[in-house]
Amino acid sequence: MTAKKINILLIEDNPGDVRLIREMLGRSELAYSLEHAGTLTDGLARLKGHIYDVILLDMSLPDGSGLDSVPEIKKVAPKMPIVMLTGLDDEETAVSALQLGVQDYLLKDRIDRTLLLRSLRYAVERKRILDALAESEGKYKNLVDNSLAGVFKTNLEGEILFANNALARMLEYESPGDLISLGALSIYKTPKDRKNLIDSLKKRGKVSNFEMEAVTKNGKTRNLLLSVTIYGEVLSGTMIDITERKRMEETIKHQAYHDLLTGLPNRLLFIDHLRLALARAHRDRYIVAVMYLDLDNFKEINDSLGHSAGDQLLQAVSRRLKACLRESDTIARIGGDEYNILLPKADHEEDIVTITDKIIAAFRQPFILDSHPVHTSTSIGVSLFPSDGDDAETLLKSADAAMYSAKNGGRNNYRFYNSAMNSRVLERMRLMNRLRGALKSGELAVYYQPQVSLDTGQVLCAEALVRWRHPEMGLLQPAQFIPFAEETGLITEVDEWVMRAACAQAGAWQKAGYAPVCVMVNYSSRHFQKSDFAGTVSGILQETGLDPVYLGIEISERTMMQDAELAVPGLMKLAGDGVRLCIDDFGTGCSSLHYLKKLPVQVLKIDRSFISGFSEDPDYKTITNAVINLARGLRLKVVAEGVENENQLAFLQTIRCDEAQGYHFSRPVPAEEFTRFLKPAG
Ligand code: C2E
Ligand code: MG
Ligand code: MG
Repeated sequence: MTAKKINILLIEDNPGDVRLIREMLGRSELAYSLEHAGTLTDGLARLKGHIYDVILLDMSLPDGSGLDSVPEIKKVAPKMPIVMLTGLDDEETAVSALQLGVQDYLLKDRIDRTLLLRSLRYAVERKRILDALAESEGKYKNLVDNSLAGVFKTNLEGEILFANNALARMLEYESPGDLISLGALSIYKTPKDRKNLIDSLKKRGKVSNFEMEAVTKNGKTRNLLLSVTIYGEVLSGTMIDITERKRMEETIKHQAYHDLLTGLPNRLLFIDHLRLALARAHRDRYIVAVMYLDLDNFKEINDSLGHSAGDQLLQAVSRRLKACLRESDTIARIGGDEYNILLPKADHEEDIVTITDKIIAAFRQPFILDSHPVHTSTSIGVSLFPSDGDDAETLLKSADAAMYSAKNGGRNNYRFYNSAMNSRVLERMRLMNRLRGALKSGELAVYYQPQVSLDTGQVLCAEALVRWRHPEMGLLQPAQFIPFAEETGLITEVDEWVMRAACAQAGAWQKAGYAPVCVMVNYSSRHFQKSDFAGTVSGILQETGLDPVYLGIEISERTMMQDAELAVPGLMKLAGDGVRLCIDDFGTGCSSLHYLKKLPVQVLKIDRSFISGFSEDPDYKTITNAVINLARGLRLKVVAEGVENENQLAFLQTIRCDEAQGYHFSRPVPAEEFTRFLKPAG
C-alpha cells in the first residue's frame, strides 16, 4: 500500500454526495487532496491542467450521463484510473463501464468509508503497477529494438513468432515483419543445422554458442552464433553475426599455413600433407616422392634487378611449377628460393621422372620481368618412400641432400637420393639426349620393305621402317629404341622425321623416272594428343611436294583406341586429301571393331603372328580367312604381314588376300636397294 498522498478529482453534481465523500475521507487516516468538479465539463477542464491519481465519477451528471462520460475522460486522461459512483438502479450500466476501462464502481446507497478507501487505494495501486509494468516493457522493448544482437522467437514447427530490428538487418530484410512472414528454416543454409539444434535443445533445454550459416534475403551467406532456450513449444534466443570474425580467423589460419608472396602452402602445411600421404601410402603401397628445389641463380637476379623483380620471379616460378603438377600434388615455398613438391601417389618411378623432366623443361623459356627476359633454372633433389625413408623428416633431409648433389652436378638438373635410381635415370637421360642428337645428326635412316600385290606380283607400296645407325652400337632395330621414344614422348619427333624422309624419297623415285609407289609410315597414337597433327602431315606433304595419294599412315590396332576420338576430325581431313589409313598388327588389339566404322580406314594389315601360325594351328587359317571376308564386306584392302615361305603365300592366294609383305619377298632394305622393286614410269 502506498503511503503517498492521493490526489483525487471528484466529479459529482449532488452536493449531498460531495459532502458525504468529504466526510468519509476526512475521518480516515488517508493522506489525500480532493478537488471537486460539479459538471463533466468542469472535470474535463481540470483534468487538462492537473494530474490526479484517481477520479471519482458520478454516473449521472447534468452534462454527461452514464457511459458517455467515460470515453470523454479517457480522451483527456487515457490512463487515469476511474472509480464510478452509481445508484442502485444503475448497477447494470456500471458493469458495462468496467468493460470500458473503469477500475471499480461503488453503490452510493451502500458506500462506507472502508469500501471507499479500499476502492481508491486499489485503483491507485493497480495504476502504479501497470505504469511500472509499461515502463519495464518499454525499457525491454527499447533494449530488444536497439540491441546489436538479433533476438528471435520461433515455435517447433519453424514459424518465426518474433524478430527484432537487428535480426532483420543482419539478414538484409527491410523490417522484422518481413522475417516473421517467413519460416525459420528458410534462413538456414543447411536445413540439417536446425534439426541438430532442436535435438540438442530437447535434450538440454538450452544451447549456447551454436554456429550456423544463414542465407540473407540477397542470397549472401552469413555466419551466426546462436544462444537458444526452449520453453515448451517456444524457442527464444539471440544471435550475433560472426562472419567477419570467421573471415579473420580463416585469414589468420591461411597465413599460418601459406606463404604470403606466392600464396603457396608453407613448410608446416607441406609436412601435414606429407604425413597424410605417407599414412595412406603405408596402407596402399604407393610410391611417394618428395622434391627439394632450389633456383640456381636467384641471388644474382635479386642483387642485380632488385627485390621487386626477385619477388615477381618467385611468383612466376610458382605458377610454372604448379602448371607441371596435378591437382592432388602439393607444392610449397619453404623460404627464399626454395620449394618442396610432394607427389603423393606414384605407381612407377617413371611417373616421377616424367614430372622432373617437365619441371626442368618448364625453365627453358625465359621469365619476363618488367618486359625483360630473365633466364633461371632449378636444381632438384628427389627422395622416395619407401626406398629412402618412411617418415617426413628423413624424406625431406634426403631430398635436400640429393638437391645439393644436383647442384654439384652442374645445376639445372635433378638427382635421386637413391643411387640405383640415379643410374637408371642417368642412363635414360643419356639415351634420350643421344636419340635427340641422332635425329639432328643424320644417324637415323629409313629402310623400305615392299608390299606385293598377290594378283599381279607388282610392288605398289613400301613400308618405311626406321633404323638407328649408332656410331658405337651399330645398326639398332626399332625394338631397341622405339618403346623408349614412346615413353619419353620423343616418338613424335622420330615419326615426323621418318615421314619427311619417306615422302621425300617417294618423290625422288618419281623424279628419277620410276612408276609411283605409296610409302606407308608408322605413326604412334601419341600424335593424336596434338591438336594439329593433321596439319603437320599436310605440311610435310607440301614441303616435299608428294601427292597425298602416295602416303599411307599405319597405326597399330593396339594403340588405336587411345585418344582416337580426338583424332577423328584430323584423320577425316587427311583421308579427304587422299592419304590412306591402315590399321597395323590387326588382330592383336582390342576386338572392338567399332572404330572401323568411325574412322576412314582403307587398309587392314593382318598381324604376323597369324601368318606364322598357319603351319602349327589350322585355326589361324580360319581366322585369316574370316578377316579377309570381313574386310571385303567393308570394302577394305587386306595386307598379310610376315610372309616367310611359299606355303603361306599359296594359302593367302587361295583365300584371295590382296597384298603381302615379308622376308619371302624381301627384308626391309635401304632406299638405294629398294629401286630393284621399282618399275619405270609410263
Ligand atoms: P610393323 O609396323 O608391324 O612393321 C613390320 C615389322 O615386321 C618390321 O620390323 C619388319 O622388319 C618385320 N617383318 C617384316 N617381314 C617379316 C617377316 O617375314 N618375318 C619377320 N619375323 N618379321 C618381318 P621392324 O622394322 O623391326 O619394326 C618393328 C616395329 O617397330 C614396326 O612394326 C613398327 O610398329 C615399329 N616401327 C618401325 N619404324 C617405325 C617408325 O618410324 N615409327 C613408329 N612409330 N614405329 C615404327
Ligand atoms: Mg607397320
Ligand atoms: Mg605390323
